Amino acid sequence: MKDLIHQIQEFETISNQLEPLPAERNEYIEQLKQYTDQFIHTIHDRNAYQSGNPENNSLAIQGKKKTLEDILQLYAKEVEAYGIKPASGGHIGYIPGGGIFASALGDFLADITNEYSGMYYASPGAVTIENEVINWIKKVFGFPESTVGNLTSGGSIANLIALTAARDHHQIKGEKIKKSVIYLSAQVHHCIHKAIRIIGLEDILIRQLTLDTHNRIDPVKLEEQIQKDITDGLYPFCVIASAGTTDTGAVDPLKSIGEISKSHSLWYHIDAAYGGFFILTESKKHLLEGIELADSLVIDPHKGLFLPYGTGAVLVKHKEAVYHSHHYTANYMQDAIDEDMPVNPADVSPELTKHFRGLRMWLPLQLHGIEPFIACLEEKLLLTSYFRNKLVELGFKVGPEPDLSVSYFWYPSTTMDENLFNKRLMDLIHENGRVFLSSTNIEGKFVIRMAILSFRTKLKTIDKAIEMIGDAKNRLEK
Ligand SMILES: *Cc1c(COP(=O)(O)O)cnc(C)c1O
Repeated sequence: MKDLIHQIQEFETISNQLEPLPAERNEYIEQLKQYTDQFIHTIHDRNAYQSGNPENNSLAIQGKKKTLEDILQLYAKEVEAYGIKPASGGHIGYIPGGGIFASALGDFLADITNEYSGMYYASPGAVTIENEVINWIKKVFGFPESTVGNLTSGGSIANLIALTAARDHHQIKGEKIKKSVIYLSAQVHHCIHKAIRIIGLEDILIRQLTLDTHNRIDPVKLEEQIQKDITDGLYPFCVIASAGTTDTGAVDPLKSIGEISKSHSLWYHIDAAYGGFFILTESKKHLLEGIELADSLVIDPHKGLFLPYGTGAVLVKHKEAVYHSHHYTANYMQDAIDEDMPVNPADVSPELTKHFRGLRMWLPLQLHGIEPFIACLEEKLLLTSYFRNKLVELGFKVGPEPDLSVSYFWYPSTTMDENLFNKRLMDLIHENGRVFLSSTNIEGKFVIRMAILSFRTKLKTIDKAIEMIGDAKNRLEK
């Protein structure tokens, strides 16, 4: 026995290192604070894109101790230095992410207290926060109280949960799969196609709908296609609309599509991962009319609410459909069962144990209130107009008036093949890196794409972008 105690004590002196003493903790926090200050202070002046990659093995784990100072230096040198900087306001490519400070406070608190947010029974407070965040989203989008929802790692998993519920509600299985039809736009995000395969619906019929000149689904064509499929003895089952496509930011006519879906008793899914939160703005909320008709809805707070990566959300109106695949009881969880209890996040998601994500959204909304979030969204919309006006002044052509904050442009070169010119222009912009833009292809035309959604994108960022693009254009014209 004495020997046993002695052995335990020996290990204890070593394992105690996992609980740093107050002086050490303070020092770590001080170092992290300095890093944070330096990062935020310089982010506006640094490149939004830097080519390069970490040195071989520099980030490998050797199992030996390092100081936090050395680790932070390593992080700055090998991680922070290269690639697209999502925290930079100069990130105007793809769909930019967020990273507001208040969310980091929420994450810190979630990690220190390590509340178990999968089951109400384990942490009634943490699960209430998760559910209150979902309740707030329901109100914003006009969904009924009986809706269930979940905070996910992002839009991809949120779409997966929604489409699983659609499948289970309509019992799409066995022989029925090959005769069932999903209607979607060619502009739908690729994670929808991934989800369809993951949930075993690879053999389902997918109708890519004809789009109008603004890349939106044409409801008349949708109705025609559904009628035709019914006549052909098929089983129309689900319609997927986008509220802000990733490529051009187009918002499908949500209300008309919703009415058609209802009239045929189809599952109506809306992917609003990019554009959903523009419903909070005075200037664009009319575009999102009809979003409340959806049976399931996906939004990405790590895009439109400026949170750090790792926060998506899904709402589904049919609780039983979500529970069919995700609600599970095992003997070792018998203490956790009570029908009257609030919804457990673990019953509406593939995850059991999960990061307490609610806190990184709940804390900022409590700390700032909603006003600065709305102002930030309105600001992004106006910056999009400003950017387009400035480009036109420089002789560029711009795409049609955008629905939201994604748009595109190209230079109508007379000295060089137009596509070649714009491709070279893109290369020069990437080489420069002060502001990051991406490109896309619109009906065979190579165009440069802008997506303004970072909370750090400001008037002076756009001026910087214009200067850079103008310089690049002049270089190519020489
Ligand atoms: C970003 C995006 C997704 C994917 O979401 P992740 O958070 O990257 O998983 C899905 N749909 C749309 C419209 C998006 O913009």
